[in-house]
Amino acid sequence: MGLTAAGAAGALTPSWLGAASGALATSAAFDPDLVVVNAKVYTMERTTPRAQAFAVSGGRFVAIGTTAEMRSLVRKRTQLIDAKGMTIVPGFIDTHNHPIGTTLLYEVLVGNPFEVEFVTIDSIITKLREKARTTPPGMWVDGYFHDDTKLKDKRSLTVRDLDLVSTEHPVCVHHRGGHTAFYNSKAFALANVTKDTGAPPGGTFDKDASGELNGRVTDRAMNMLSKVGKRREYTAAEHEARERDGMAHISKQFVRYGLTTVHHQGGDLATLQDVRARGDLRHRVSYEANGRMLEAMIANGIHTGFGDDWIRFGATSEHTVDGSFSERTMAMSEPYAGTTYKGNITEPQPELDAWVERVHRAGIQVNCHANGDVAIDMYLTAFERAQQKFARRDARPKITHCTLITDNLVKRIKALDAIPAMFTTYAYYNTDKFPFYGEALMKRAMAYRTMLDAGVQVAAGSDFFPGPFAALMGIQGMVTRTGWDGTTWGANQRISVDDAIRVNTVHGAYAAHEESIKGSIAVGKLADFVMLADDPHTVKPDVIKDIAIVRTVVGGATVHQA
Ligand SMILES: [Zn+2]
Repeated sequence: MGLTAAGAAGALTPSWLGAASGALATSAAFDPDLVVVNAKVYTMERTTPRAQAFAVSGGRFVAIGTTAEMRSLVRKRTQLIDAKGMTIVPGFIDTHNHPIGTTLLYEVLVGNPFEVEFVTIDSIITKLREKARTTPPGMWVDGYFHDDTKLKDKRSLTVRDLDLVSTEHPVCVHHRGGHTAFYNSKAFALANVTKDTGAPPGGTFDKDASGELNGRVTDRAMNMLSKVGKRREYTAAEHEARERDGMAHISKQFVRYGLTTVHHQGGDLATLQDVRARGDLRHRVSYEANGRMLEAMIANGIHTGFGDDWIRFGATSEHTVDGSFSERTMAMSEPYAGTTYKGNITEPQPELDAWVERVHRAGIQVNCHANGDVAIDMYLTAFERAQQKFARRDARPKITHCTLITDNLVKRIKALDAIPAMFTTYAYYNTDKFPFYGEALMKRAMAYRTMLDAGVQVAAGSDFFPGPFAALMGIQGMVTRTGWDGTTWGANQRISVDDAIRVNTVHGAYAAHEESIKGSIAVGKLADFVMLADDPHTVKPDVIKDIAIVRTVVGGATVHQA
């Protein structure tokens, strides 16, 4: 905003407008589409962190200031929102998410995808029986979003429980973590799996105390069961419609929880465009390509950043280097307590080096899944090597999860300007899994405090569907490090509310090279923001997750209203 603007606006131009930089059309501020007043605005801008009001035009913030100042900009056509003292923060950015909308919309959910909720084994059986009633015998009856540590019964689901669902249908209850599932006897019979069947490499058929199959199957062994039985098949048109409706559905859920940008792990790009064309895409997408799509980008010279403000190619989707944090298979330099097991490396260094170099050379932001310190070291080694061979400025390699760190790793992360996309909701949702690691390791896990102190632009990555994507649950966990069960792990990694919001906004934008258009409430940036019923800075930290998201706005348009 230059002198011309001040001149054009005459005496009306308040002092704060002069400070608002940006090359926006000056007249826009004086015929705004939207003005929000009487708010407690946390802009997340270092120089002007607080405001009461702002104006939006053409989907962007055009002026920020006091309520009186912004009221003076209201014209006949301007939508005026009185926030009545409520808190406004920039829209939340989730930098790691598997957006499986069709599962949410069409499948039987035996656990709560979004919140900590304890269910009974009875409720699981009842839901699946209902499904079996309308499913032809021999076809699979599936349940999704099971969490073994969120059962009121305080015991595991068994093959006998699932035999109560049906003896005519194969039945499978999928763990939300994706690495384990529970089956009934019919499923085992169809797959010819008995208590004497040997475990395939990389998987197990678990047994009870008497040596019988208990129903739980892990990792690669699940393939032997998923090959058998029948699942409903869909025509191309049906498939398309389901994908579209599923994406529209999950988009609604994202904005209900205040997410305005989500980094998608792959998925159908055509679906995304269709959903957008129909006006059903409520959140912005950083599209992280894998498989054929990534190969197409490399072959055709599509770089990270190609696209527009709604759908843009971001980093690659997570290229997996090691196992899982919540399911205890990540690669660590020390063995898991009471064992000699140090987790799983899923790719040898030379192959990792080659993949990283190829993607990096192609002008695409590299993104690897690395949980344990051993895997993080391997990835950094691969990236340091790639930079040496082919130096690229501002590459920002993304480290999905980056869970267990050492001082040395953090130094290297900072030196590369690498972007950890760390678990957020886990600190609240998954505390029931932390005893497997113990406090000594948890002090170095999801290490937000250490990262921020080192000046690393660490971002928030929910890893939905294994983790819930509620940003406020994530913020509560980062601030308290206390879980639903009241236990606290690695309290040394606590960060302030302001820093937790910054991780979920400003740093999320930086993770996708979008800091000039997203992440804060600043003149010229996209008008993506969230109105909260209460202020996370002033409520008790253990109820931050319960603050209602009153309104979510993307590009100046309300996409969710409570
Ligand atoms: Zn993931």
